[in-house]
Formats: sequence, C-alpha cells, structure tokens
Amino acid sequence: MNPRLAKHMDLLKPEGAYAVLSKAQSLEREGKDIIHLEIGQPDFPTPQHIVDAGIEALHNGKTKYNPPRGIPELRDALATYLNNSRNIDISAQHIAVTPSGKTAIYVAMMSVLEKGDEVMYPDPGFPTYRTLIDVLGCKGVPMPLQEKSGFSFDIDALEKDFSHKTKLIILNSPSNPTGGVIPDKDLARLIELVKDTDCWIMSDEIYTHIVYDANTSPSFYKNSDMHHRTILVDGFSKTYSMTGWRLGYVAVPESIINQVDYLLTHMVGCTATFTQYAGLAAVTGPTDQLDAMVAEFNKRRDYVVEALNDIPGITCQIPQGAFYVFPNISSYGMSSQKMANYLLEEAGVALLAGTDFGPHGEGYVRLSYATSLEDLQQGIERIKKALQKI
Ligand code: PMP
Repeated sequence: MNPRLAKHMDLLKPEGAYAVLSKAQSLEREGKDIIHLEIGQPDFPTPQHIVDAGIEALHNGKTKYNPPRGIPELRDALATYLNNSRNIDISAQHIAVTPSGKTAIYVAMMSVLEKGDEVMYPDPGFPTYRTLIDVLGCKGVPMPLQEKSGFSFDIDALEKDFSHKTKLIILNSPSNPTGGVIPDKDLARLIELVKDTDCWIMSDEIYTHIVYDANTSPSFYKNSDMHHRTILVDGFSKTYSMTGWRLGYVAVPESIINQVDYLLTHMVGCTATFTQYAGLAAVTGPTDQLDAMVAEFNKRRDYVVEALNDIPGITCQIPQGAFYVFPNISSYGMSSQKMANYLLEEAGVALLAGTDFGPHGEGYVRLSYATSLEDLQQGIERIKKALQKI
C-alpha cells in the first residue's frame, strides 16, 4: 500500500503566473513566438552597487549561518528605513529578515492564525494568501476589490462582514493584481473598526515604492498606534529588482519577536548571509536607479492604459501603483480563463486570467508592464487583432 500524502497537500495548486509561464515556454519550444506579459518581476537588472555588495560579502567569507532574525546591520537599516519612510519610531527589535516576501507572509500568518479562525483577504488578490488560509484550516472571507472604487475594497461591505470571529485582515496596497491602492479615508475607517478588538492586520506593502501619484501613500504601517496588532510584510524583489536573491522581512510588535525568531529558526534556520549584505547596500545606497525604474514604469503604464482603452470592448482603469493593469474584458462574453488561453494560443501573448487571483477576478485579465515598451506595443497590437476575430 502506498503511504498517503497529508490532506492539506490537496489544497495546494500551481500559481497562475508559474503555470502560464511554463505553458508559454512549451509553446516557445515548439517554435511559437510569445510576448510575456504574465510575469511579475521588473525587467531591470539588480543595481550594480547591490550586486557588488553581495559579491564582496562572498569574498569576505560571509558564507556561514547568521542569526535567525537576520544580521544586526540589516535589521538596524530596515528600522531606520521604515522610520524615515513612514514617519514612525521603531527599533531593530521589531524586524525579522526572511528569505523572501513569501516567507514573510508564511511567518505572519503562521504566527497569528489557528484552525477555524476567520481571515478577511482581498479577492482578486495574491494567491498565496488564500492558499495559506486553506492550508492552516481557517475560514476565508473575501473582500472583493471593485473596479468602481479604483480596485480597493468596499469599506461598507468590510464593516458588515467583520465580526468578533475575524482574527486577521490582509491588506495589500498597492495591489497585485489590480494596481489599486487603499484610500487613506478607508484606512482610517478600518482603524476605527478594529481598534477595540483583538484582530490582527497583515499589511503586505511590497509595492509601496512603485506608485505614480505623489498623493498616494498606501502604507498602513505608518499608523504607530496600530503597531501592536500589525505585521508588515515587505520584500526586496520589486523595489530593488532582486527577485532571484530571495530577501524579505517582517516588522512585528516587539512582544512577539522572540516567537517569530523561533519560527524562523525551525523553518529556515536563517536567511542567506551574503544576500543580506546585498540588501543592506540596497536599503542604504543611492535611489537614482529605483527612481528611474519607477519613471519608466509610469511611461509604460500610461501607454498600456491608453492602448487598451482604444480597443473596442475593453475598459482599463489607470492603476495607482505596482506594475499591473487589470482590464475589463467581460463584454466579449468569454470567461477570463478562456480569454487568457485564447490570447496565448491565438495571439502568442501570455497574460493571466483575473480568476487566477480569486473568483472576483472574473471578467478581467492581468497584464504586467514590467517588460520593454516594444514588447508591450507588439503585445497589445496582437491582442487587438485577435479580439477582432471574436
Ligand atoms: N506579495 C505580493 C503582493 C506579491 O505580488 C509578491 C510577488 N509576486 C510577493 C508578496 C512575494 O514576493 P517575493 O517572495 O519575491 O519577495
């Protein structure tokens, strides 16, 4: 008799982006020319001073274990960075470094959730949230992100669904997949809602630097009086174009840092040492290349939104952040999944179905504009032609 896999393993599914990438690559092996608009990673190289710091660390023998919560220099630098960017006052005692933003999400959710707890999460939203809710045996309560409210959640609906059973609310602003940000006035109402409860907030702010409007300030973490209930999740992948380095961190209440440290001890031991030195150079180094990257994303966003809105039957909102657009394709009467398959096979354009991010993504597709303007122009031209045939 074969031994059985644990039941929670049945709850794991591939992530849309990886699944579409591998399908697109197999079409490429057959000789098909594919434009990749499915991948959520900046197309810019990691800035040279960051690469150099990683290499120098390796040459200097930084090849051994380090503390589970990370090297002190990086934790100090992250505390300073948060204090400056959020106008708050925290110390390194709040920071634990992790080997990716994804691990940071695991750490946050495993730290506060128990079987049966209710968790409110964005739908459409980053698929890891829902997967972990299921694997941890919790009950997911979706917070629909709506086109009509700039792809933020409906705060009135959230207030109705919130109850004493709500153990965690997950925020992601700017959002993957919609690029929407949560307006400050909704954050203020959310604070009122949770302030006398024992509900946790996990604020995934991995796209916080990729915003296009000086007035957008999507950080929940800037509210110091919420820090005792907030776990900030952040990573280096997007801001510093470091997806392959695997580096992230959590900022947690000081009262739970030891338990988080023990979780990391038994989960990963520690985060790669040389990667953290590269991260230190990223946080403390010049920002001109990051600013140039965001300026380039801004140009592409403006182009993509205009070009998509020029296609009859498509409406596309102007996202405030991240590097995704989430056009409405419902007028074609095709499911999002069918549309994504059709555009891959007919037009050779790889993109993601809105439903890869949850049922409320039906009627939409996600395009990443973290790729060259030439590819975007060609991709949208191909989409336009393929849609004319429907
Ligand atoms: N949060 C969100 C919202 C994301 O989109 C991603 C990556 N796509 C992550 C977290 C994780 O990023 P990483 O593990 O590369 O740090």
